[in-house]
Amino acid sequence: MPVIRLDCTKCDRTFAPGAVLNLCTSCSAPLFARYDLERAAKTLRPEALATRERSMWRYHEVMPVEDPAQRLSLGEGYTPLLHAPRLSEWLGLKRVMVKDEGGNPTGSFKARGLSAAVSMAKVLGAKAVCLPSAGNAGSALAAYAARGGLEAHVFVPKDIASLFLMETRAYGAHVETVDGLITDAGRVCASLAREHGWYECATLKEPYRVEGKKTMGYELAEQLDWTLPDVILYPTGGGTGLIGMWKAFEEMETMGLIGSKRPRMVAVQAEGCAPIVKAHAEGQPDAPMWPGATTHAHGLRVPKALGDFLILRAVKASGGTAISVTEEEIVQGTKELAASEGLFAAPEGGACVAALRKLQSAGQVAPDESVVVFNTGTGFKYVENMTPLW
Ligand SMILES: *Cc1c(COP(=O)(O)O)cnc(C)c1O
Ligand SMILES: [Zn+2]
Repeated sequence: MPVIRLDCTKCDRTFAPGAVLNLCTSCSAPLFARYDLERAAKTLRPEALATRERSMWRYHEVMPVEDPAQRLSLGEGYTPLLHAPRLSEWLGLKRVMVKDEGGNPTGSFKARGLSAAVSMAKVLGAKAVCLPSAGNAGSALAAYAARGGLEAHVFVPKDIASLFLMETRAYGAHVETVDGLITDAGRVCASLAREHGWYECATLKEPYRVEGKKTMGYELAEQLDWTLPDVILYPTGGGTGLIGMWKAFEEMETMGLIGSKRPRMVAVQAEGCAPIVKAHAEGQPDAPMWPGATTHAHGLRVPKALGDFLILRAVKASGGTAISVTEEEIVQGTKELAASEGLFAAPEGGACVAALRKLQSAGQVAPDESVVVFNTGTGFKYVENMTPLW
């Protein structure tokens, strides 16, 4: 197994790989998978990548599943990094790019994390997997569980758009709607997981979703010829992608693939649910529960993130920031991305465009800096969320 160790992200506990582990058994913080990077660096070379498969598994030296036959894959990752000249001009900038995750299996970047997590669940002998979801994680879990012949249980807030329910159930998953938010769904999920022995795949509650998400960092570097942009805007709910990319940058530097320069990481949230923005502004190390969370960008409706301290740590270390946008600004940003570049994005992607406009007006991004905006999913699934606002 390529993973040599699991390290706690908060205390100094380490764990042997190969067991079913969720959080650190001492302090309940998330665990990070560690690899023999010296060994990985020998074969994970730019030249070698040229002939590899066009999915996130192309970076297999630093991925948890070694044997291709054990990977549950639908072709996730290796998404385009699109130059966005018209959007750049509209924003008064010169080098805006969009990492477009909308073409992933199941229509969002959740496919990356769940391809990795469900593959590992199966390798570790799990028969059933579960998670709470705002929509995209649930459908991705269900799709990969179907691919692997595992049973899937998904817990979602009851105001979820109906397409997510239809899709997730079509993959054969059991879906339960819960009165409340994703955190409430998470409580129900955790207690049933304990009762039935399901493998819990909630954000950062097992070590492998973040391994799938980190490949976005590898792809950015590869697509930019082993450099990184000046600024990255990431729509932040649980923060797995931001945390994962930050981990990827460290791994890549250790392997000599990139230098020590890091992008300024910008965590984008909605005004109706901005716990990270508040904690960052106050200089707190973690983010308390946000009361009454609301936004039509359901992926951002996460009032309490398990990895809050990891998000805040990365944002701060990078010299970046956390910023929130209103519902109208999200709609505006989504429409701008569509009209300027032909991308019908999820509102979470629109939120990043809106946030970039704000940063530009405030002089926090210089015109000639290179900026990557994440569009994390397709807009097609969000008709019900968007209709009242458009
Ligand atoms: C889940 C989700 C997010 C938030 O991702 P995290 O890594 O949990 O912060 C953003 N956009 C979309 C479309 C999502 O489904
Ligand atoms: Zn610990």
